[in-house]
Amino acid sequence: MTATYLKAAFGDRIQVTLVESEQVTRIGVGEATFSTVRHFFDFLGLDEADWLPKCAGGYKLGIRFQNWSKPGEHFYHPFERLRVVDGFSLADWWLELGDRSQPFDRQCFITTALCDAKRSPRMLGGSLFASGLDGSLGRSTLQEQRDQFPYAYHFDADAVAQYLAEYGVKRGVRHVVDDVLAVEQDERGWIDHVRTRGHGDLRGDLFIDCTGFRGMLINQTLGVEFESFADVLPNNRAVALRVPREEATEMDPYTSATAMSSGWMWTIPLFRRNGTGYVYSDEYISADEAEAELRAAVGPGAEDAEANHIRMRIGRNKQGWSGNCVAIGLAYAFVEPLESTGIFFIQYAIEQLVRHFPDENWDPQLRLDYNERMHRVVEGVREFLVLHYKAARREDTPYWKEAKARKAPDSLLQRLEMASSHLLDDETIFPFYHGFENYSWNAMNLGLGIIPPTSRPAIRHIAPDNAKREFARLKAEADELVAALPSCYEYLASIND
Ligand SMILES: Cc1cc2nc3c(=O)[nH]c(=O)nc-3n(C[C@H](O)[C@H](O)[C@H](O)COP(=O)(O)OP(=O)(O)OC[C@H]3O[C@@H](n4cnc5c(N)ncnc54)[C@H](O)[C@@H]3O)c2cc1C
Repeated sequence: MTATYLKAAFGDRIQVTLVESEQVTRIGVGEATFSTVRHFFDFLGLDEADWLPKCAGGYKLGIRFQNWSKPGEHFYHPFERLRVVDGFSLADWWLELGDRSQPFDRQCFITTALCDAKRSPRMLGGSLFASGLDGSLGRSTLQEQRDQFPYAYHFDADAVAQYLAEYGVKRGVRHVVDDVLAVEQDERGWIDHVRTRGHGDLRGDLFIDCTGFRGMLINQTLGVEFESFADVLPNNRAVALRVPREEATEMDPYTSATAMSSGWMWTIPLFRRNGTGYVYSDEYISADEAEAELRAAVGPGAEDAEANHIRMRIGRNKQGWSGNCVAIGLAYAFVEPLESTGIFFIQYAIEQLVRHFPDENWDPQLRLDYNERMHRVVEGVREFLVLHYKAARREDTPYWKEAKARKAPDSLLQRLEMASSHLLDDETIFPFYHGFENYSWNAMNLGLGIIPPTSRPAIRHIAPDNAKREFARLKAEADELVAALPSCYEYLASIND
């Protein structure tokens, strides 16, 4: 992602070499993204209809949270902003007018109906259900996001990396498949060159460390300290299974996050197979027990699947950029897979690197600003993820009981206290850009059960007619779309032919 994007941003004014090992494999679990990843693909000029089928891709309209409150219950965190009526969000109105015996999300969002009915966001022929959002955004960035695009992707991360590497080579990236054996520093302690097995010493001005959890340049060579988040986010392991779905003619247009005894399980539907995995803390369950619990949850489809056990380094480097080295991806930070933020962090880091790109003067202010932004984006996501565990109502195992008592950032505890009185808005969620908007915070709070006992007093002084009409309109639009759109499988089969 980084090599190809830098080349697309700066063209022939910079030279980019991508070094990848054949021996050290990528993490490569089937992956889910944010809807804003479209800016990345548009910036490169890539057409979804071309790359998506080549990467076993599927659509993600949101995340379905299953069993986080009690068995059998689910709610969605969709990619959809809340509508506003007479100055108040539909969620505010729901507290006054909604049917509280029914889940909030199905009354306040359209996308949830499409998820339940497993619909594609595109009509056969390709047009998008949300009009006006269809065209390519061209060379736009996350900062220019105005509209909420209604879907993200599921894809085979290995295939995407391969596709992007090939595309990068066409645009002038030098691709070296080799092992880096050593990293040599100059007299300042900056990186001078990397020593490879078959291509000799590779020199450069700026080195991007994308070596994953090992942080070969940033940690092992430069000694930048890694700050663990284990005190607030204890999940430190995952076990993943690739489950074939060759014959199935149904496909979920969402990621599932299902609560398990000592963590949660992801299900990421790719075209013709599911990526599944159990994210857990080894304080509560062993690797063998986690694998057995995952296999039981997946069922017979997983019988022949080989388990991939992964140790996760949860936290972030104190600096993402040190000297002439910038760490991107798992080499910089990871806050566990819940809410699929890994690729979002990569995209944000690349964009910020382009924005703060150095010249031969190495202005330290550019580096400071970059580091501060990366620090904040991770901080915001960390808070948002801790919210999931604090607000979850499950208490049936030691893991879930202790989730309630576990340490949490003070700022989050204050926000949760406020959310139990009235809904959060742009001013009261985490205040810096971190990829999540107020609708996400409210979808999680209300979905998990942090529900104010009454509506805002102000709502009761406003005639409810407009809000009632909007609820009726939303329901009618959802019914119409469910009837008109093809199934997710049907649409993807049409572009995979
Ligand atoms: C269990 C799990 C689930 C995840 N799910 C999601 C998700 O759903 N959505 C999401 O956005 N993110 C997810 N992530 C994060 C995701 O893995 C990352 O966003 C991304 O795929 C990782 O890419 P990376 O390049 O940082 O690291 P890696 O995939 O580990 O790649 C490291 C690269 O460095 C190279 N390398 C290492 N050492 C050397 C060497 N000595 N010489 C040469 N090359 C070397 C390797 O060949 C490889 O290409 C998940 C992570 C985990 C652990």
